[in-house]
Amino acid sequence: MSFIEENVAALRARIRAAAERHGRDPNEIRLLAVSKTKPADDIEEAHRRGLHEFGENYLQEAEGKIATLTRRNLQPTPVWHFIGPIQSNKTRLISRDFDWVHSVDRLKIARRLGEQRPPGRPPLNILLQVNIDEEPQKAGISADAVEEMAHQLRDLSGIRLRGLMAIPAPRQGFEAQRQPLAAMRRIFDSLRADCPDCDTLSMGMSGDLEAAVAEGSTLLRIGTALFGARPAKPSPETDA
Ligand SMILES: *Cc1c(COP(=O)(O)O)cnc(C)c1O
Repeated sequence: MSFIEENVAALRARIRAAAERHGRDPNEIRLLAVSKTKPADDIEEAHRRGLHEFGENYLQEAEGKIATLTRRNLQPTPVWHFIGPIQSNKTRLISRDFDWVHSVDRLKIARRLGEQRPPGRPPLNILLQVNIDEEPQKAGISADAVEEMAHQLRDLSGIRLRGLMAIPAPRQGFEAQRQPLAAMRRIFDSLRADCPDCDTLSMGMSGDLEAAVAEGSTLLRIGTALFGARPAKPSPETDA
């Protein structure tokens, strides 16, 4: 078994165990392979092992890998998620080359992504990033702003709001990790009351996957536990 193949098996087992413990159906929990800093060959190997959705943080790096993998014509076609900070001069490429964007925290960015979505493509799937621990250096809107922002996004064409994303401050231990994730779940539940398309709660990484499953995550973003450690972080904002 390859390193990645073993990791996929171990992750599937972790997700299954956590789902069982918390009365959830493991098939309702998507596994997003966070492939930032990792080469196209690693992505292809993960794809071969049954993972078809990939998350990237850095546009320039992602563009090269998306082009390479598009040429390799993998089946099923990989689904690309942009999960990093968005500069407004990068929205055109993001809207052209990705299927999902998790890190929307400004109306202006959402509007540009929608306007720049190429004709003929389905609407770009959008998640609002919530700064759940209200960390000053971190991206995301405050919990209080979710309802209003969701309302504003409703009328934009080219995008479709699908839910929320969060990167809580790191904590040790299940109970401590659970707190911000439980807060996210409450915000998500109230958003869903007037957003029928909102079916996605993106939370949980390598270190807090179990707590995220316990609190209703529908999409785990996993890097390290799948592809191994990454080189030292380029910025505290984008790398956890
Ligand atoms: C890097 C990253 C991840 C993956 O984190 P791991 O701890 O390596 O699993 C998830 N989400 C975002 C937004 C990231 O930047």
